[in-house]
Amino acid sequence: MYSSGSTCVHGFIFGARASNDSRRSHYACGMTCQMLDGKLLGQKVRADVKARVSASNTVARLDAILVGSDDAAEVYAQSQARTCDEAGIHYVLHRLPADSSYDNIAGRVLLLNTEKQVRAIMLHLPLPVGVDVERVQSLIAPEKDVEGVNPANIGNVVYGRRSLVPCTARAVLELIESTKLNLQGARVVVVGASNIVGKPVAVLLMRSNATVISSNKFTLELPQLTRGADVVVAAAGVAGLVKGDWIKPGAVVIDVGIHRVISPEGKTTTLGDVDFESVSKVAGFLTPVPGGVGPMTVAMLLRNVADACLKI
Ligand code: NAD
Repeated sequence: MYSSGSTCVHGFIFGARASNDSRRSHYACGMTCQMLDGKLLGQKVRADVKARVSASNTVARLDAILVGSDDAAEVYAQSQARTCDEAGIHYVLHRLPADSSYDNIAGRVLLLNTEKQVRAIMLHLPLPVGVDVERVQSLIAPEKDVEGVNPANIGNVVYGRRSLVPCTARAVLELIESTKLNLQGARVVVVGASNIVGKPVAVLLMRSNATVISSNKFTLELPQLTRGADVVVAAAGVAGLVKGDWIKPGAVVIDVGIHRVISPEGKTTTLGDVDFESVSKVAGFLTPVPGGVGPMTVAMLLRNVADACLKI
């Protein structure tokens, strides 16, 4: 399935030899698991976005809406302001009061839709209890919807039309493509089928002519299905779900899950949906958590902003 003609030669990636730290030996079979460095790949994407922005005479700008002052959303908005600034993207944060109604939030979205200088809109979550998130998201003009959350953009993904693609799904595809795996004819199992991650990932893979199994919490004999897969994408929201004995030796494993776990000593660790210890002994390529899909998702948002704002 790999363009190199081998399923287990993993010393090179992104044109450079991988460091020892980023590889793990499969002691049983002498193969090596290559860590897919989302930070490194994300930096390349961000550098590309920055170059596009500086070469364009159009202003790149991201308008984000934040309702209330949720701690995690505040941290995300601050880091977003920083990453936009680094890429030369103007970041405008629209703060709305915590008790905003659907009409208040929808009104702001509709106003931004009409403003000519606004080309990229995103909505921070959570919204106040009782406000229908999907209803608000579906109001964002599809050509400004840089998170790809408007159902029109999901539909465009299905039809293979040029559109803004959900950032995490785009990140997953980019990470798989970085392995040089030939997706045509490859067998892929996507674990999890949410509207924003699992389904768009499955559709993008179908568009690459992979043979895709979409699974969910009701899927029977999931380990048997993943064992036959060249690629496994874990996006179930269940920490450590995917184990080493679920994986075909040499397979590409993409871990989308994010779980913050606090130890009794108060130390915070971030875990994924993949059991790293066992899977890294079997897989050919694996995304670490943190440092895999997360930073690539941030980079893909910036790429979507550039796509929405710029002609180049
Ligand atoms: P979700 O809860 O909306 O959907 C989970 C899906 O997984 C559902 O389709 C469910 O049926 C399925 N599922 C649950 N248990 C399963 C099981 N045992 N076997 C098979 N399928 C199972 O979750 P989501 O929003 O898609 O997020 C999934 C994970 O990805 C979460 O950990 C989330 O934090 C993470 N996430 C990461 C990023 C990122 O940028 N890295 C972005 C979005 C979400």
